[in-house]
Amino acid sequence: MEIQKDRVVSFHYTLKDEDGKELETSRGGEPLAYLHGHGNIVDGLEEALEGKSEGESFSVTVSPEKGYGPRREGLVQRVPVKHLQGAKTWKPGMIAAVQTDQGPRQVVVQKVGRFMADVDLNHPMAGRTLVFDVEVMKVREADPEELSHGHAHGDGGNHH
Ligand code: ZN
Repeated sequence: MEIQKDRVVSFHYTLKDEDGKELETSRGGEPLAYLHGHGNIVDGLEEALEGKSEGESFSVTVSPEKGYGPRREGLVQRVPVKHLQGAKTWKPGMIAAVQTDQGPRQVVVQKVGRFMADVDLNHPMAGRTLVFDVEVMKVREADPEELSHGHAHGDGGNHH
């Protein structure tokens, strides 16, 4: 089955930067599942997946504009260390989750003191050109509930 709007796609990916350094991979776990055509994944990757079939593998280079957006200046904030979630001790360069009015957000730790930390609110992948190695594992029609929610349910998708 081919990938098109309103189908649920399961895929494995390895995310690398321009120099080929691996940043993230789904290998060794469940493939990621998403509802195609609903902006659930970054634009550049969704566009590259359009029309691909089960079993296909490919690589795509995604610019910041089609990825996580450009890096913006002036997004460094000082927050209490106890508000950082995801680890017990923090070092510069680590990624933490912070609760905001818009829900949890990933930040990059820049400086850590005893009580306060400077964190960068840019998405950790903002401003970066990304290379995705992708293998399409499964393509299926979405069920009506998935369509009404706008995302995939079940293995690799949304559990709620
Ligand atoms: Zn749902």
